[in-house]
Amino acid sequence: MSTTERAALVTGGSRGIGRAVCRALARDGFLVLLTYVSRPEQAEEVCREIAAAGGRARAFRLDSADRGAVAAFFKDQIKDQVQLEVLVNNAGVTRDGLIMRMKDEDWDLVLRVNLGGAFACLREAARIMAKQRRGRIINISSVVGQMGNAGQANYVSAKAGLIGLTKSAARELAARGVTVNAVAPGFIQTDMTAALPEKIRDQMLETIPLGRPGTPEDVAEAVCFLAGDRAGYITGQVLAVNGGMYM
Ligand code: NAP
Repeated sequence: MSTTERAALVTGGSRGIGRAVCRALARDGFLVLLTYVSRPEQAEEVCREIAAAGGRARAFRLDSADRGAVAAFFKDQIKDQVQLEVLVNNAGVTRDGLIMRMKDEDWDLVLRVNLGGAFACLREAARIMAKQRRGRIINISSVVGQMGNAGQANYVSAKAGLIGLTKSAARELAARGVTVNAVAPGFIQTDMTAALPEKIRDQMLETIPLGRPGTPEDVAEAVCFLAGDRAGYITGQVLAVNGGMYM
């Protein structure tokens, strides 16, 4: 790695949307640094796919929920190692349940990973990007963070929180040449949605005007747009990628 090489960091890049984002950013010329937590084989496979297509990628085990580990990762692998141009806060988990039955640990974990992890990475990236007066931060929120969803109070709170974080960070960092935006996917075909009961999946599909679920690539192209030169005057926005599935 070199300090002049334009790099993009994607959290949770081993599967689903994160994987597609990694492939698309590598295609667009970035050295991709991706994190995972539990599936090293899948993370290495993404790196191999990117290399086979002529790009460059490296995978790192990093639990986004571990603030100390995030700080150490930025110190050891990012700062003075690469030129960090893009951060995509994509790592996410669900622990669904109705509010009256929701366990403290399910609330805490989902907030810690989805919102706390994004904040920890954003804070570290902001320090680097503000200094270099250039950078793009993209937080992966969700359509449910905009509209609410029964059975997902923890996840929805984290995803709505990410929109607030995006708008605040956009205001704080604009003067330093750093843009901060969110992408809010709708119903995208990944392991996360495959885990939903069939009945709920069918019900959700009926609410999509474009008549099909989204693909990880649909989301990745929106991320690449916000990460690219053509989006330089866009900050503090939420770009919905949901097939028209609205509130
Ligand atoms: P996924 O297929 O379940 O993949 C989740 C990714 O996050 C994996 O790479 C996983 O790593 C990583 N991850 C999980 N916990 C982590 C942690 N503590 N630290 C670091 N990485 C962690 O999910 P997805 O559907 O692609 O979703 C990606 C993002 O889009 C999430 O933020 C999700 O909330 C959001 N989103 C998804 C949809 C959808 O319909 N799928 C809709 C709206 C928003 P391992 O492989 O190592 O487990």
